[in-house]
Amino acid sequence: MLHTTPTIGVLALQGDVREHRAALEAAGARTVALRRESELDAVDGIVIPGGESTTMSRLLQVFDLLEPLRARLKEGLPAYGSCAGMILLATEVLDTRPDAEHLDALDITVRRNAFGRQVDSFEADLDMTGVDGGPLRAVFIRAPWVERVGPDVEVLARVPHGQAAGKVVAVRRGSVFATSFHPEVTGDLRVHRLFVDTVRSQFASP
Ligand code: GLN
Repeated sequence: MLHTTPTIGVLALQGDVREHRAALEAAGARTVALRRESELDAVDGIVIPGGESTTMSRLLQVFDLLEPLRARLKEGLPAYGSCAGMILLATEVLDTRPDAEHLDALDITVRRNAFGRQVDSFEADLDMTGVDGGPLRAVFIRAPWVERVGPDVEVLARVPHGQAAGKVVAVRRGSVFATSFHPEVTGDLRVHRLFVDTVRSQFASP
């Protein structure tokens, strides 16, 4: 039977879990707070929230989730990471702790806290590929940017102006998405809808 309500796990070790769950549910998904390996089998996709990537990396190890999650992502589990979540999905992270781990799900090089002190946190209206209906309000909070994009990775958005103009802040490879910014805090559901629709479309494929 074709089921139309995907179940999306929100990694619930640390970070803005509640905001992502609310946005995903408003976008038509069922959500679960994901903390255990056993819970990975029950989800059709995963969201890694914003927060602190080095803390989440440590907790992934404490909860014995790092390797199981890496393996599920390698098998093709759809994923979306915002901010710290983008850092965790990357294959390479600059300016992080030497012992920080990441999940190697997106072939990108990410620089942590890249925007520097002056623009630690800022907002911008930007156009994002796949998101129709006009510019998106993007909220950046001690955000990373993407310094290298692998051959299979599509750039979806860049900083539109200012000293960081042109920096890549949203990317995608198939059903794996990452944004430097936090759509979960603005009430604009378009990015979550894009992810939920992508997860849902996986059911339709044989
Ligand atoms: N600076 C944080 C980190 O390195 C990310 C910030 C965020 O998720 N808002 O993980």
